[in-house]
Amino acid sequence: MTDNYYRQARFLTSAAKLSQCPPDEGYEVAFAGRSNAGKSSAINVICDHRGLAKTSKTPGRTQLINFFALDDERRLVDLPGYGYARVSVSIKKDWQGNLANYLEKRQCLKGLVLMMDVRHPLKDFDVQMLEWAAHIHLPVHILLTKADKLKRGAASASYQKVRKALEDMQGEFSVQLFSSLKKTGVEEAHHKLNQWLNREKP
Ligand code: GDP
Repeated sequence: MTDNYYRQARFLTSAAKLSQCPPDEGYEVAFAGRSNAGKSSAINVICDHRGLAKTSKTPGRTQLINFFALDDERRLVDLPGYGYARVSVSIKKDWQGNLANYLEKRQCLKGLVLMMDVRHPLKDFDVQMLEWAAHIHLPVHILLTKADKLKRGAASASYQKVRKALEDMQGEFSVQLFSSLKKTGVEEAHHKLNQWLNREKP
């Protein structure tokens, strides 16, 4: 059965730093990934809302932490995509600092969904993110995005490779295949979000 709950997602606010975030209460799940990994598309498909997370690449907007409310207690959070080429080094440092600050300090943050292109998983930044998440005891669920770009066997091989790599790492990690184009993997993603958001399935 499809879970319509996530359709309730509404844009709440944007924050450039921790002090601008909504009150640290309830439950939050954040989405992160390298630029172009398919994060905006995944958020839109998970919430069945085409224009929710803008897929445009406007530098001013992509550096902000964007909050989407699901109900009074629960939020999804779109974190700045990593590796946007057109910003200066100092802005990049600043924004990594703000990102680290959010991930480390936010009490209501229950889990991180990390998007990786199924064709190029576990890039340096992804591995750093996983190691760091393990260090701060933040659970991570990986979406291997654009699964439709590979044949079934190749997608499955990528999935197994990532699973194997995760087994050798510390941390509370899980992984699944996902395609925003074909809308596959949505239920599995909802299931993980429900757990983290402390939500009983209807
Ligand atoms: P973001 O930078 O991580 O937010 O990535 P976007 O969601 O904007 O997607 C980057 C590009 O990949 C866009 O051209 C999308 O249309 C494409 N894309 C995203 N998800 C999928 C998918 O599941 N399948 C395919 N084939 N393309 C996708």
